[in-house]
Amino acid sequence: MYTVTNPATGELVEQLPNDTDAEVQAAIARVHGAFADWRRRPATERAKIVLRAAELFAERADELAAIMTLEMGKRINEGRGEIGVVVDIFTYYGQHGPELIADQPLSIRGGEAVIQKTPLGALLGVMPWNFPCYQVARFVAPNLVLGNTILLKHASICPRSALAIAEILHDAGVPEDVYVNTFAASRQVPAILADPRIQGVSLTGSEQAGISVAAEAGRNLKKAVLELGGSDPLIVLDTDDMDETVTRTATARMRNCGQSCNAPKRMIVLADIYDEFVDKLTRRVAEYYRPGDPADPATTLPPLASVAARDEVAEQVATAVRQGATLRAGGRPVDGPGAYLEATVLTDVTPEMNAYYEEIFGPVVLVFRADSEQEAIAIANDSPFGLGASVWGTDAERMRRVAEQIESGMVYLNSAGGSQADLPFGGVKRSGMGRELGPAGIMEFMNQKSIRL
Ligand code: NAP
Repeated sequence: MYTVTNPATGELVEQLPNDTDAEVQAAIARVHGAFADWRRRPATERAKIVLRAAELFAERADELAAIMTLEMGKRINEGRGEIGVVVDIFTYYGQHGPELIADQPLSIRGGEAVIQKTPLGALLGVMPWNFPCYQVARFVAPNLVLGNTILLKHASICPRSALAIAEILHDAGVPEDVYVNTFAASRQVPAILADPRIQGVSLTGSEQAGISVAAEAGRNLKKAVLELGGSDPLIVLDTDDMDETVTRTATARMRNCGQSCNAPKRMIVLADIYDEFVDKLTRRVAEYYRPGDPADPATTLPPLASVAARDEVAEQVATAVRQGATLRAGGRPVDGPGAYLEATVLTDVTPEMNAYYEEIFGPVVLVFRADSEQEAIAIANDSPFGLGASVWGTDAERMRRVAEQIESGMVYLNSAGGSQADLPFGGVKRSGMGRELGPAGIMEFMNQKSIRL
């Protein structure tokens, strides 16, 4: 069942049935059947449609933001910001896609060759609820320009986002069968991947879902791109403005109520500034982040996406405290029907505790003390994940040196948790495989065909 429940109030808003197996089969047939014509069109024609989609996303930003607020509790202003990034992504691939997939001449020993960049066919997208529009955009915009067709299974708590996205794409001129939304249940995903008409899968979501989808993709020899969890380190080397550093790092962690894959979940602070950082961060988190209605732009702490998600995070915090971590702020669910959790700061988390290695997907920040730059790097790398990271300080060369030693797919200097259309995004280790965005994002489901002339 695809279910809309308002996480701010607990109200059940709408339920939509899953697609039957026959409906899923019909959807596969549609995206497969549409491929031959779509791939034959000039890339510039597909790009023009993608640019039109960018305009429609911009026009409908308020409507989309309101849907996300209702479905998963996103603060209304953050929803509008998310659509801004979606517009950037569609614009980027609309403008640059054709040149990124142009034939590439290659001089080789004894002659000349050309690398032709062609699409693979019908793809499956499995998407999460935390950024209902942005995650879809990262997968869909480049692949539409490349000429692939798409069957999209969104998270079961955001069917309205799924339908609104499909409507925009179709209104922009994407043929109905080139982009098909399915309300398939996750248990129907293996059958979709086993179908020879589907050429690959992109999943953004949890490690568990990634393992399951990667196994099915492997069994069927299908290409898989996996954008999974993270527990990004944020290293503070020094600062000439502690208040600003604290405000900005807390903002990065608490964005989207802490439910971002690349939020800085572990802050690692050098010993000489650790006490001041922790004191100020604790005050900031306890005083600034107050539960409120996510539809009110003044709200600082929205609900999590569901009561189940909130309870899971609350349990992770309680376990850390039971195992000996120090709770500096927050930590408790907020009374009432909404999915609220107090904004939380934990310190003294050690490798023996579950929280040290887990992803905590909510408004919870862990702070670690490091006695040296090398120890900070060692703590940063002591994680099963390797999605993003950030290094904060005043000495650009030193920050760069530290950045180069971090095992992750992305490192930002003096900012955290960001994403932009023209910069590749993705992780290593258990954070997944493959890249989205930038030039790399259009190459994942591409046949780079060598033609020896
Ligand atoms: P999730 O529970 O894994 O769900 C993601 C999607 O996968 C949903 O559409 C879900 O469908 C589907 N799914 C779940 N189990 C599946 C299975 N066994 N087989 C096939 N499909 C399955 O993840 P989430 O809770 O929505 O998202 C949060 C996670 O995503 C976090 O770990 C976060 O770090 C990660 N994430 C990563 C990135 C990145 O770029 N690396 C970006 C955003 C989020 P149903 O809803 O129907 O269960």
